[in-house]
Amino acid sequence: MNKLLRVLILALGAGAAAPAAALAMAYEPSGLDWSAGEVEAASQATMQGLLDRAAKAGRIGCERHCERIEAIYQRLLHEARQQSPHAAALPWSLTVVRLQQVEAMALPGGQVVVSEAFIDERQLSDQALAFVLAHEMAHSILEHERQALTFARMLLPQVVSRSVQDMYVELDLSLSLLIAMEPVLQQGEFEADELGLLLASAAGYAPERQLDFIDDECAAQDASVKLVATHPPACTRQQQLQARLPLALRIWQLTLPSPRPATD
Ligand SMILES: [Zn+2]
Repeated sequence: MNKLLRVLILALGAGAAAPAAALAMAYEPSGLDWSAGEVEAASQATMQGLLDRAAKAGRIGCERHCERIEAIYQRLLHEARQQSPHAAALPWSLTVVRLQQVEAMALPGGQVVVSEAFIDERQLSDQALAFVLAHEMAHSILEHERQALTFARMLLPQVVSRSVQDMYVELDLSLSLLIAMEPVLQQGEFEADELGLLLASAAGYAPERQLDFIDDECAAQDASVKLVATHPPACTRQQQLQARLPLALRIWQLTLPSPRPATD
């Protein structure tokens, strides 16, 4: 059993009276290289580049889905902040753009980005959008970028000291390094799926409807083989998520109003 589930089951076992909002479902990674701040600082350029591109195209900010994106994000944020000291301290932010080439992402510093073009194209329901955003936020909570960079450094000669920026140069230049990282990157996706499903369930979004997103991904999956597969096949992700549905349902049910006692 992985750490994430063990913590969760302990929390659920603590008593039915425990409110869903108090569930801690994530684990705190340990033994990582560089500080969280160094990894966050290195990703600032990515965020700025995206903002500049959106501003230049006049496609920054929401137009059609403002209220629902903000409402979903706030509900997820409430749950995310309770997952670990790191998650509580992150300077979370939400940026909406309207770029065709952008879907959704979250940087190590908790900057969540989503494109309205993606929401429209995929016709995402509130539940499916909650899953997508929660998946991205789970990457920030679990410090997946820092974990992946730490693993990448283990594959390189240890005598050379490297900054986070140096690591990105190595990854840009070395296809073999990126291929060697595939298992770690794919494991990160499974973890983000699992924590994302549970977070969005704790935020009150029906788990089965959340999975509409991955069901569509699986239905659209083609047989092409990628040079580097950073993500597992969509249908494998779907299977893993379906295995977590009973747990997600239990968490979601804690968020539902309890039925009123019958009166005469
Ligand atoms: Zn992901």
